[in-house]
Amino acid sequence: MTESTQITLAATPTGPVGPDNFAEQRTELGALSDGQFLVAVRYLSIDPTIRGWMQHDTYLPKIAEGEVIRSLGAGEVIESENEKYPVGTRVTGMTGWQTRTIMDGGFRIPDGVSYEQALSVFGMTGLTAFVGIEDIGRVTADDVVVVSGAAGAVGSIAGQLAKAKGCRVIGIAGSDEKCNWVTETLGFDECINYRTDDVARALRNACPKGVDVYFDNVGGEILNIVLGQIRDRARIILCGAIAGYDGELPPGPANIVNAISRRATLQGFIVLDHYDRALAAAETLGALLTDGQLVSEVYVRDGLADAPAALADLFTGANTGKTLVRL
Ligand code: NDP
Repeated sequence: MTESTQITLAATPTGPVGPDNFAEQRTELGALSDGQFLVAVRYLSIDPTIRGWMQHDTYLPKIAEGEVIRSLGAGEVIESENEKYPVGTRVTGMTGWQTRTIMDGGFRIPDGVSYEQALSVFGMTGLTAFVGIEDIGRVTADDVVVVSGAAGAVGSIAGQLAKAKGCRVIGIAGSDEKCNWVTETLGFDECINYRTDDVARALRNACPKGVDVYFDNVGGEILNIVLGQIRDRARIILCGAIAGYDGELPPGPANIVNAISRRATLQGFIVLDHYDRALAAAETLGALLTDGQLVSEVYVRDGLADAPAALADLFTGANTGKTLVRL
C-alpha cells in the first residue's frame, strides 16, 4: 500500500486559474496488479492545454471535479509487476499532478537523457515544434517565418528549427527581456514585443515582402495581424491559441479573408497524432543540441504545491522556455 499526495480539480475555472480551483489530498493507491508498476513522480510538465482540460471537453475529456489534474510527468519505477518496466526504469507518461502513480505503460527515458530533457526538447514540446515546422508548415530555407510565444517552450524550439534551415525568423514575445533572449541567445533575426510595440507596423518593417509561415501559439489579435500580412501560398501552423484559454474566446480574425486571395493553408494539429515522428524529431533536435545550434531552456518550480502557480505562470508569461515542476 502506498500513499500519494495529489492535486485535484476543486472547482471548474471560467477565468484565470487560482488557488480556489485546486485541492490537495492524500490517497491510498492500493496494491499493484499484474502488468502494473509504481512510479515515484520526479517532474511534472506544465502545459497550457491543462487549462483547457480543466474547463472543456476538447481532444480529451474535461477533467471532472474531484479528479487528479491530468498532466504529463516523468519519474522512476520503484515497485513493479511488469517485467518490461523493472525497478529503476525512468519513464514519462500521464502521471497527473501527484507524487506517486500506478502505471501500466509509458515511454522509457533513454540513458543520458535527463528528466528535464525528456519532458522538453525530447518530449511533447520538441515533437510539437518539429511536426509544426516540418510537416504542417513544410518550411524551407527561403521562407520568412514568424513565431508567436517565441520565448516559450514550443515557440523557442520551433524558431530555432526554422533558423537551422536557414530561414529568416521573426519572434513575437511579451517583454523586452524575452525579445533580447530570443534574438541574442536563440539567434532569431528579430523579435517584436507585442505588449509595447505596434505589432502590425513592426511586422511590416521586419517582413517587408510578407510572411510565408506563421507558427501560431497564441491566436487572437496577433493571429489576425499576421493574417493581414501573409504572402501567396502562406502556411499558418495552428498550434495553440493561449490568448483565448483563460477566459472568453477572442473574436474570429477578420483578416481570414486574406487567406483566400493569398491561397494560404491554415492547418491545426494535435501532437498526440504524431508519435510516429518522435524518432525523427529526437534525431534532428539531438543533432542540433550536440552541434550547439539549439538552446533548450527550462523554467522550474519546486514542489507539488507549486503546480497551480506554475500553470498560472504560463498566462502571465513568467516562464521562459519549458515550464516544469520538480517534486
Ligand atoms: P509556453 O511555454 O509558450 O507558455 C505560454 C506563453 O504564452 C507564455 O510564456 C506567454 O509568453 C504567452 N502568452 C500567455 N498569454 C498570452 C496572450 N494572451 N497573448 C500572447 N501570448 C500569451 O507554452 P507551450 O510552449 O507549452 O505552448 C505554446 C502553445 O502551444 C500553447 O498555445 C499550447 O496550447 C500549444 N501547444 C499545442 C500542442 C499541439 O499539439 N497542438 C502541443 C503543445 C503545446 P509572453 O510573455 O510572450 O506573453
